[in-house]
Amino acid sequence: MAEILGVGGATLDIVNVVAAYPEEDSEVRAEHQRVRLGGNVANTLAVLAQLGHRCAWSGVWADEPDGRRIVADLEACGVRTDPARGLPAGKSPTSYITLSRANGSRTIIHCRDLPELDAATFEALDVTPYRWVHVEARPNTSDVLRMIRHVRRHNPRAWISLEVEKARDGLAHCLHDPDVLLFSGDYARRQGHAGPEAFLRSLDPAAVPGLKVCTWGAEGAMALDNAGRLHHRPAHPPARVVDTVGAGDTFNAGLIDAMARGRSLDEALEAAVRLAGRKCGQEGLGGLA
Ligand code: ADP
Repeated sequence: MAEILGVGGATLDIVNVVAAYPEEDSEVRAEHQRVRLGGNVANTLAVLAQLGHRCAWSGVWADEPDGRRIVADLEACGVRTDPARGLPAGKSPTSYITLSRANGSRTIIHCRDLPELDAATFEALDVTPYRWVHVEARPNTSDVLRMIRHVRRHNPRAWISLEVEKARDGLAHCLHDPDVLLFSGDYARRQGHAGPEAFLRSLDPAAVPGLKVCTWGAEGAMALDNAGRLHHRPAHPPARVVDTVGAGDTFNAGLIDAMARGRSLDEALEAAVRLAGRKCGQEGLGGLA
């Protein structure tokens, strides 16, 4: 079991389950509603904790009911929150998610009034206990870069993974140092690529020397290793796709778990698509261990 620090967002997800995604300007009734912990890094940590790792979260939360709930939910999942920063004002992020029962698609409206975690706060943390530090590429990329370098300087043996979900100004500078880069298919598509292979091969190995991974929804995931070899694993489709919220975050947890246990890249990819596939067959992230 590894000591793992996750750095990035935690949200409160308000999930409305509907029979099918509604037409614009229509009114529909939700079949049911769930309010639960969300956010990329929080989700990944919640799964890693289930898989037996000792996890901690570093991020920002606002001291209001939603923020306190986020912290309580993380602690209930076994994720320590003392490295996170609570702010007296602002509003913790909430995601309003319309989840279609017809095909498991999730449409997300995100709402946030909170500053990002700043590098100076992160640099005050003792990062020496962690074997793995998983960082989300938030919009404040110059701070993200300083955080990655802080970990590298003070804990050179820790593995560092960076999750890249969206294009951000200055992101390119953050891609050089991490050992593992976890790109979303959405990011690759927005860069103009029709498939994960073309995207991964488009990255300059001198600028992005780490292991590069890209997920591709129901088509599984692909990785380009440091020697330039391509690895592919098809998805494991569940009997019925119920909920794809957090599929990518679960994939990331499966990959980090397997790599932290010393598994090969192919084994880690396989474990990750299996775990993500199972997650798609159920609501929420519980019971994945
Ligand atoms: P995100 O949740 O970030 O949008 P993806 O949609 O690429 O990420 O999904 C991440 C992983 O989850 C995929 O690589 C795949 O293993 C799994 N996955 C996603 N959708 C499905 C699906 N419909 N059936 C089976 N597995 C899926």
